[in-house]
Amino acid sequence: MIVVGGGYGGATAAKYIKKADPNVSVILIEQNKHYYSCPLSNPVLVGMRDLEVQKWGYEGLKKHGITVVHETVTGVDTGAKKVTTAGGVFSYDKLVLSPGVSFNYDAIEGYDEAATKTMTHAWKAGPQTAILRDQIDAMKDGGTMVLVAPPNPFRCPPGPYERASLIAHYFKTKKPKSKLIVLDPKDKFSKFGLFQSGWEKLGYKGKYLEWVPAGEGGKVTRVDPKTNTVYTEMDEFKADVVNVIPPQKAGKVAFLAGVANDKGWCPIDFKTFESTMAKDVYVIGDSSAAAGLPKSGYAANSEAKVAAAAIIASLQGKPAPMPTYVNTCYSILAPNYGISVALVSTLKDGKITKLSGGLSPMEATPAFRHQEALYAESWYQAIMNDTFA
Ligand code: FAD
Repeated sequence: MIVVGGGYGGATAAKYIKKADPNVSVILIEQNKHYYSCPLSNPVLVGMRDLEVQKWGYEGLKKHGITVVHETVTGVDTGAKKVTTAGGVFSYDKLVLSPGVSFNYDAIEGYDEAATKTMTHAWKAGPQTAILRDQIDAMKDGGTMVLVAPPNPFRCPPGPYERASLIAHYFKTKKPKSKLIVLDPKDKFSKFGLFQSGWEKLGYKGKYLEWVPAGEGGKVTRVDPKTNTVYTEMDEFKADVVNVIPPQKAGKVAFLAGVANDKGWCPIDFKTFESTMAKDVYVIGDSSAAAGLPKSGYAANSEAKVAAAAIIASLQGKPAPMPTYVNTCYSILAPNYGISVALVSTLKDGKITKLSGGLSPMEATPAFRHQEALYAESWYQAIMNDTFA
């Protein structure tokens, strides 16, 4: 049994398969020695949190008896059931792919991989997070920052807006002559009302933060990294710091394996997360086209458990159990101001169907919002333990 990608999805799948049946040999192939968590990486950008607390290792998984191989997967042959890396070829009975997302570098003129060195994405945590944090820190008071939001679907639907909120908070408290302009190819986004009301209540709107939706010309068509200029169909913005969160598709490995469709995502059987394009290959996390679930770390963790149960059942010649999928996502707008969305779903008539959940209330006391910001940290500790320990 091979798992490719040791992030929220892959690490959880490896652990839960091994826990369910210690006799199954589980090899986790992950290119990096350490994993930097995207959840709670936005506070790092504005000095509210240290990057080191986002860093996790694979010792915990090894203690469960999982073999961890640090290599980059360069090929997947789903016919011969083999995975190729620079360090060797691995055979599998069952393969789990959780490679996260890759970026559509041909979508915005001028934004290619080389451009990310100065116009960061910081949408994969780690070195990119550190560069953007340092740029924001070095920006003069009175400067302008531009954040380019991505089109749907993308990793972490509320993530760009949590980032915008925290940068606005940083400007308000540290560099009050500065402003963030969010250029968006959409007219609405996740937790829309809660963000809008938070931006109003926290005094960000118009002063430290300006959100330009598609309808008002927010769609970016071109960037020039040499001059730090961003072009929309109507306007151009020269900024001190530019953060581009590019359009996204499944992780590269999914394309190598031939399990991504022409939309760039991986269709799967919702009951098992087995690819509909290749037998015995299970795609979980951001890469999967799991309609009804967001591309979030919590969803990836939940999908991993559904896939693990289905794989174990299949190995034992039993039918896959009926799945339940869960997600909760906290967003922090200021150190003492959090909001959330929760979802519990099941499979009904072949579709992932909501059983329960909802948003935190539009009207809430300051104590309530503060409590939600604290819950974000306890959620983080709990899920990282569940995934990596
Ligand atoms: P990842 O966690 O990205 O893991 C993929 C792994 O595969 C990586 O470790 C990568 O190195 C490895 N890999 C890729 N290709 C190869 C290869 N060829 N060979 C070997 N290894 C490979 N989610 C939440 O639930 N809550 C939040 O609060 C939240 N906040 C976020 C904030 C930000 C700023 C961002 C960007 C995201 C946030 N998310 C949040 C989303 C969350 O990070 C992703 O949904 C989650 O990481 C998806 O898990 P995954 O396993 O699909 O991919």
